[in-house]
Amino acid sequence: MTYDLVIRDARVDGARVDVGIAGERIAEIGTGLPGPVLDVGGRLVSPAFVQPHIHLDKVRTGTLVGPNRSGTLAEAISISHRVKRAATPEEIRARAGEVIRAAVIAGTTAIRSHVDVDTIGGLKGLRGVAAARDDHADLCEIQLVAFPQEGIWRDPGTDELMAEAMKEGADVVGGMPHWEDGLDEARRHIEFCLDLARRHDADVDMHVDETDDPYWRSFEILVEEAERRDWGPRTTAGHVCAMAAWEDDYAHSVIHRAARAGVMVATNPPTNLMLQGRGDFEPRRRGIPRIKQLIGGGVVVAAGQDCVDDAFYPFGNADPLQVALITAHAAQLGTPDEIAAALRMVTEDAARLLRLPGYGLLPGARADLVVLDAETSRDALREQAPRRWVLRGGRVVAETVREQRLVR
Ligand SMILES: [Zn+2]
Repeated sequence: MTYDLVIRDARVDGARVDVGIAGERIAEIGTGLPGPVLDVGGRLVSPAFVQPHIHLDKVRTGTLVGPNRSGTLAEAISISHRVKRAATPEEIRARAGEVIRAAVIAGTTAIRSHVDVDTIGGLKGLRGVAAARDDHADLCEIQLVAFPQEGIWRDPGTDELMAEAMKEGADVVGGMPHWEDGLDEARRHIEFCLDLARRHDADVDMHVDETDDPYWRSFEILVEEAERRDWGPRTTAGHVCAMAAWEDDYAHSVIHRAARAGVMVATNPPTNLMLQGRGDFEPRRRGIPRIKQLIGGGVVVAAGQDCVDDAFYPFGNADPLQVALITAHAAQLGTPDEIAAALRMVTEDAARLLRLPGYGLLPGARADLVVLDAETSRDALREQAPRRWVLRGGRVVAETVREQRLVR
């Protein structure tokens, strides 16, 4: 038989092989496979990138919102209100679409996006990003998280909007428990979200303890309540910055419980390096959860972009390879094993967080692949290698041709 496409001379785990694709799936990895050829000339081939945490409703609002002068999360949230109130679903759709296309060109074929659900913007963000998702369904899978950015109890009416968002087609229940008035209210918030998720048979992905203040321990409550409901493997905690400020013994015990419950963590180093520690002089907390400890303890950790050009973060280009490089610096991942772990945070581990079926570079998996203009993963990271080709379901959906030369 011949395959629909053969990726010729691909570098996979150090070997040079062919990848035979039938329909949307990888059929065989071998040599001399028959079929129409895409010769990648010994370049590194990886499963496509997965973006586990981004806010597509807010991307590219940086200029509209104006500068965040304190640089804090609190100012970012409050200066976003005016733009959130005025935004239309059509405008959100256009901004989100621009970033989705950039993400695909960067090698991404699956994205989990939080979208604000609150009494300021209502469900406009959800509708705008859902339209952008539909516009790009051939390029990328997108999961939508109903995200109560302003809190649930602090923003009365959000509980009903969250329920409506799930009815309207949000895939995942989000949360923001540390935005409530104390740990008791945070627990009620977490219980509400987990119960809502169970009613809709949905995953949970919350913003948890995105603060330097070690008072905030809602990660522990989330782990406890998820475990109680047997929902741990469907639960993700995003950010978890306060973990950096916790006592070592306490952090160790909570990490152990999270691993036992199967709760996953999405760290977002680009944004949190920018936002956290703003109240510190020196030394300054950097808002990065204990990534090595989490991985060592058996917790799945994925690394997300979080923000692209908004009130929270002035940079970002939806490129998971840049996120992996920043994460490697933030968590000091420098040995070969650690570099591999940094790349897994934007590939395999991010795919586990999104619970994507059939992900990977192996027979039977979906042929969602990225061909990097590098021979090793360290070079790919170091050089931020161009994504020569991106394949989605066995079809080339993006390519990058870069020309640079010295002129002398
Ligand atoms: Zn976020």
